[in-house]
Amino acid sequence: MRAHDPNCIFCRIIAGQIPSKKVYEDEDIFAFHDIHPWAPVHFLMVPKLHIPSMAQLDPEHERLMGRMMLLAPQLAAEQGCNPYPDGGFRMVCNTGTEGGQEVHHLHVHVMGGPRPWLRG
Ligand code: 5GP
Ligand code: ZN
Repeated sequence: MRAHDPNCIFCRIIAGQIPSKKVYEDEDIFAFHDIHPWAPVHFLMVPKLHIPSMAQLDPEHERLMGRMMLLAPQLAAEQGCNPYPDGGFRMVCNTGTEGGQEVHHLHVHVMGGPRPWLRG
């Protein structure tokens, strides 16, 4: 697995080669608004490392994935998701073709905001 794939659209977004609306960035994680939002709040969290999907996760990624899980509620609130329990948010991590994955760089969708949503 390469750290970065020059043909990967999300690697190019992380590198700033394709513009995006950034939500968050640190050494290991990048988050940006989905270009086709399903919900009033819809952003994607990605590891900076080019991991194609959940199927390629190794024990070495445990801390990274844990950090993404802990970051999600913080970013969801910052982006305008209403508080739990009446508000909240949905996290989706499509994996593989039958899992509905279109971009093969691991990403977690975080969606929230008042219903109805376009999808989901
Ligand atoms: P998947 O189906 O792989 O889980 O979702 C990929 C998501 O990436 C889709 O929701 C799609 O709208 C989003 N997406 C694809 N290309 C771009 C892009 O160039 N910029 C942004 N911001 N989102 C993208
Ligand atoms: Zn990538």
